[in-house]
Amino acid sequence: MGRWQRELAEAIRDPEDLCQALGLDGGIMADVTTAAGFPLLVPRSFVARMARGDAQDPLLLQVLPQGQEAASPACWTGDPLGESESLVAPGLIRKYHGRALLLVTGGCAVNCRYCFRREFPYAESGATRRGISEGIAAIAEDQSITEVILSGGDPLLLDDDALADLVARLDAIPHLRRLRLHTRVPVVLPSRVTPSLRGVLGGSRLARTVVLHINHAAEIDDAVVEVIGRLAASPAIVLNQTVLLAGVNDSAEVLAALSERLVAAGVVPYYLHLLDRVRGAAHFEVPEQRAVEIHRRLRETLPGYLVPRLVREVPGERSKVWIA
Ligand SMILES: *Cc1c(COP(=O)(O)O)cnc(C)c1O
Ligand code: SF4
Repeated sequence: MGRWQRELAEAIRDPEDLCQALGLDGGIMADVTTAAGFPLLVPRSFVARMARGDAQDPLLLQVLPQGQEAASPACWTGDPLGESESLVAPGLIRKYHGRALLLVTGGCAVNCRYCFRREFPYAESGATRRGISEGIAAIAEDQSITEVILSGGDPLLLDDDALADLVARLDAIPHLRRLRLHTRVPVVLPSRVTPSLRGVLGGSRLARTVVLHINHAAEIDDAVVEVIGRLAASPAIVLNQTVLLAGVNDSAEVLAALSERLVAAGVVPYYLHLLDRVRGAAHFEVPEQRAVEIHRRLRETLPGYLVPRLVREVPGERSKVWIA
């Protein structure tokens, strides 16, 4: 077992342990649930970046299951993006021109409370070894696909051998030009980005992009900066997407600090997503009008290339919808 596998095995899974590790008193437990269907999961290295004794810490709020999750309005559903309807083969989601998204695992290194896939039926939708093979066969048959996006769950939870095998099979499909990874692992479990992982990615003939998912500057410590450098050196373009979350990053100041920290680490801000209306996440919503206002102030603060596009995912649309 490598270091990252051990760190994942030792991740915190019990809300009480998390509160204890942060020196939060028992009072906070009244609002906390065990969230059996989508339990707490957070690696200790991520917890180490949270402020001790602060129940409103922006990293803590992203992972701690709270009682208000049960109070979601009925229109907040389990599959807000209609992804099950876009499955063209097991594990393969096809929504946009030229791009196909391959679900390679259901697992993540962290469970984010606002995640739109928190109820996604991975087992039925093909994020298995056999499902992946069928997905790859479907990609090989469709010449209009030029870019494959590895997603999940988190593709970097595959070990190097599984990932190398997958990359080799995609490399062998002549009409593919680009490979993209959507991952939160370099941020929540940086030890996964080993020197050998760099070799696995670097061995591919496909042009690579890694899209990280970071919501707050405090998520980026020195270890994260180091592994981002390793990904970039593979080489790959490194971008970031952020979800706009009430109480976590819903101000121009917080988002500007994030962009500054990202660019210092060599990462370009890509998307700022309005929250998808998934059951259990309603308390994170920032109304669209406020989001537009925050984004306008961000534009007035930063150079254009440090301002992520404000987007929303709308089922049936042929691209993400650009709000601003
Ligand atoms: C977001 C997404 C993509 C990628 O969209 P870009 O605008 O190219 O980043 C591709 N497929 C699916 C299903 C997506 O949700
Ligand atoms: S890492 Fe990504 S896919 Fe996994 S729970 Fe968080 S938002 Fe969802």
